Amino acid sequence: MTVYIARPLPGTVGESRRVVHVFPLSAEGLAPERLTAYCGATFGRGELELLERPVGMPCVTCLRLAPTPGDADRPAIDR
Ligand SMILES: [Zn+2]
Repeated sequence: MTVYIARPLPGTVGESRRVVHVFPLSAEGLAPERLTAYCGATFGRGELELLERPVGMPCVTCLRLAPTPGDADRPAIDR
């Protein structure tokens, strides 16, 4: 499971809500119209700033739900 991180672009949400979310990358690599983070937040394709590495404030819910590198063989969401 590959994941990527992104946060809302400035102006799309309030500054306090510009946290870094974690998103599952689909196996096809096709960007869907709506991107859903592990925490359930959804964004349009043009509303996100993709990040190379974590910066700023992370989304705590995403961090809790997203797979860690050691979980590569486990389904992303297994509850
Ligand atoms: Zn999130």
